[in-house]
Amino acid sequence: MYRTVDASVMRQVNKQTVLSLIYQKSVTSRVAISDETGLNRATVSSLVDELIAEEFVEEIGLGNSTGGRKPILLRFNARAGYAVGIDVQITHVTSVLTNAARDVIHYQRLELEADHGHYTTDWLLGILRQEIQSVTAAMPASPHGVLGVGIALPGLVNHIAGHVIYLPNLGLTDWAIVDDLSRWFPYPFVVDNDANCGAWSEYLARRVNNLVFLNAGVGVGSGIIINGALYRGRDGIAGESGHTTIATNGLICSCGNYGCWEEYASERALARYLREFGVEANVSPHFLSDSVRQAQSGDSAYRQAFQKLGEYLGIGLSNLLQVLNPEVAYLGGTVAEAQPLVFSDIQRVIRHRSMGANKETSIVIAEPTAVALGAAGLAISQTVKMLPVPTT
Ligand SMILES: [Zn+2]
Repeated sequence: MYRTVDASVMRQVNKQTVLSLIYQKSVTSRVAISDETGLNRATVSSLVDELIAEEFVEEIGLGNSTGGRKPILLRFNARAGYAVGIDVQITHVTSVLTNAARDVIHYQRLELEADHGHYTTDWLLGILRQEIQSVTAAMPASPHGVLGVGIALPGLVNHIAGHVIYLPNLGLTDWAIVDDLSRWFPYPFVVDNDANCGAWSEYLARRVNNLVFLNAGVGVGSGIIINGALYRGRDGIAGESGHTTIATNGLICSCGNYGCWEEYASERALARYLREFGVEANVSPHFLSDSVRQAQSGDSAYRQAFQKLGEYLGIGLSNLLQVLNPEVAYLGGTVAEAQPLVFSDIQRVIRHRSMGANKETSIVIAEPTAVALGAAGLAISQTVKMLPVPTT
């Protein structure tokens, strides 16, 4: 009896391995899977047939022969199911529905009250429930429905426990968010730091094995990919570069510390620079795009404020390049909208302050949906067990 149980468990593990491999490869074949996994060809064939019958996998014609018969090519069925990705920021929430191939099927953006000020878990839970309901309502019929829902949050998150540790700009702490969402929806949930989601999205899109993703909006954080895996650190909270000190005795930050980079390179910083130049300014959903327009229309106060923002973005980015020596640094978040106004200052500061080849690191503006897409991607990856095995 125990042997029967063992055999069925083993078959399930092997099936997951095969599915995961097919998901990670854009195209593969039974022979290639057998070679890569060490499973014998009959086992692979039988598992692949099951996955085809379940509509997770599809055959897409014949590949080139390497001596024997031409192999039948396989790929993950893009329409097997769909994933929801939700990017929660302080002034807005971006939500996407993607198919399994990461194509965006539906996109929506919700603006949040600028000076709400009284954030609670119930308030955010209400927003997330509403977003999940309206995004899944746009979902076409499919064999497996919702493959997963990924939530990207601006702060410290325990992604294994599905638990919020601390969201500084929302003032929320210690919240079992996945437990709460699971009371309302039967979907597999993933919750992660917003910049981690952005980094994962850019990794999936371009397969750059070493990258840093800066998410700069009302707050600042970074996601790090090292050797093709998200780097999370001991407690899963690596990448909080926004709360590294760049000015001793500097301004007080939302985290309670003084002189954090975030206070100098975020939308909040831009508003403060504008006030220093005599402009009445406060962060709101359209603050950054309105400011970009003002600067582009030639307003010198706005231009100077953006120049200062660019310099401080460059200083912090230079620190990240010195520590990580990535192939690419992505600039994401709302601040990326200011690219024409900040990019040359960022590059100037990096060339001035970084050493060696770090001076020439590619700085690439990320897609505005990168974080939401990454959250959806992490949710699918979790479902097909592609997620790199966490160390904690
Ligand atoms: Zn801070």
